[in-house]
Amino acid sequence: MSKQSLQADVVVVGSGAGGAAVAGRLGRAGKRVIVVEAGPLRFGTQGGHARNLDVSEAGMLAYANEVMKEWVFPCGSSVPVQGLPGFLVSHGAGGSFSLWCSNAPAPDISELPAWMDPADWADYLGQAAQVMHIDPDIAKDGVRAERILAATRAVVGELPAGREVQPMPIAARRVDGRLKYTSSDDLLAQAEGGVAPLLIVEHIVQQVLHRNGRASGVVAVPRDGGEPLVIEASAVVIASGTLASAQLIQASAIDAGPALGGNLLDHPIISTRVLLRPEILAGVPADDPVFSIWVPHSAAHPWQTEVFRFPQTPPAGTRDEDGADVTTFVAMDENPDNRLFFEPGVKDAFGLPQVRVQLRHSAADSHRISLAMAENYRVCAAVGDTLRGAGVMLYGAGGSAHLMGSCRMGPKDDGSSVVNAAGQLWAMDNLYVAGNAVLGTSNSSNPTFTLVAAALRTADRILTTL
Ligand SMILES: Cc1cc2nc3c(=O)[nH]c(=O)nc-3n(C[C@H](O)[C@H](O)[C@H](O)COP(=O)(O)OP(=O)(O)OC[C@H]3O[C@@H](n4cnc5c(N)ncnc54)[C@H](O)[C@@H]3O)c2cc1C
Repeated sequence: MSKQSLQADVVVVGSGAGGAAVAGRLGRAGKRVIVVEAGPLRFGTQGGHARNLDVSEAGMLAYANEVMKEWVFPCGSSVPVQGLPGFLVSHGAGGSFSLWCSNAPAPDISELPAWMDPADWADYLGQAAQVMHIDPDIAKDGVRAERILAATRAVVGELPAGREVQPMPIAARRVDGRLKYTSSDDLLAQAEGGVAPLLIVEHIVQQVLHRNGRASGVVAVPRDGGEPLVIEASAVVIASGTLASAQLIQASAIDAGPALGGNLLDHPIISTRVLLRPEILAGVPADDPVFSIWVPHSAAHPWQTEVFRFPQTPPAGTRDEDGADVTTFVAMDENPDNRLFFEPGVKDAFGLPQVRVQLRHSAADSHRISLAMAENYRVCAAVGDTLRGAGVMLYGAGGSAHLMGSCRMGPKDDGSSVVNAAGQLWAMDNLYVAGNAVLGTSNSSNPTFTLVAAALRTADRILTTL
């Protein structure tokens, strides 16, 4: 079959948070970037957020409907990945970043790789906060927010300075008086002098082309079955999510060493929908702003709890705006045996090597989960009516949407990591990974803020090489 071809300075696979962060920064430096996305354009923009379609209170249910429709098993399969019953992804411009709840907690120092300079992280987290428009104050002024904050503080024990119960930083800003939630469209945005990345949708990258330790481009296959597209570039960035990034490296016959697919980290997630207590709902104005309350992760408290509203259909007989989700994410031990396996000779619906996953909780994980569950219930009882449908639930593996670590970063090429601090594969000169796949340090904070910081560092490294 004949092939079409295109050229760029850099080709990026995947348009979610990791891919968009790298592509946007390279574009702002004047580089020609092509982003290839397996899914379609949606929500009227290039990677915009489903919540922005209608940011009013009424729009919350429309957002929930989009999440239910667009959040699917990998490759749009009708069955989950074996070993990951709760794991869903989103194949469309913006990836899962187009659906995310915009909670952007700053990671605790204990959640970042100890072998890296904390000052370097602080610098890149600062840059990520800017491009993501993270606002620490946006969720603090509502009537419900103040009451939920006080009730949560009253039942959570003492926490380290700076990591006390507080309003959650949210990635959103006001544009023309309206809230705009951050997604890939913001990360891809260009100022004068920048070159807007070219987003090619509905193409599945099935192979990274390489020779003698250098990548030369990718092969992308159109979803409609047309001719394959070859995109040649001076550097390649794989940002196709935690499973598909490892799958693409394997499919391309790149020897990334034994850590490829190993050291998976999940956030065991406990989540409970409660009907807020009458004293929290009394006299709440119709335009009460968004609330999201945060019980942060710290070394002394290796899980985090959030009280916010997840986009979902409210239980029968209740109004969505009278409810809240109390969600607790728990840190897992790092363990190289928690890993994905490639099924020899079997391909998935994207034409990539089929995977199955083995994920086990250690005794320490189980103990941590039990403590976290107790906190979840205490917070539920403090803010909600636990006699009216509040069932504390531990989701199946992968249910947090925060699966990480299949291409983890590490300090040296000793078989325990796949990429270096800049996201560059140890085995290759100009092939990089961005996104949750590179995060391999035990943590429980929602990972998107941290992965965008890492992706901006990757973009800066690429700029030194072009
Ligand atoms: C409902 C929901 C709520 C969430 N809330 C939060 C939150 O409040 N805070 C937070 O920090 N995180 C949240 N998350 C998680 C957050 O969305 C992810 O951390 C983030 O999107 C991960 O970015 P990524 O670039 O690693 O992957 P993704 O966003 O998954 O992007 C990967 C992209 O690659 C594409 N792709 C895959 N394979 C190929 C291929 N072979 N060729 C081409 N393209 C390919 C996919 O279609 C996808 O668009 C939430 C997620 C969901 C679904």
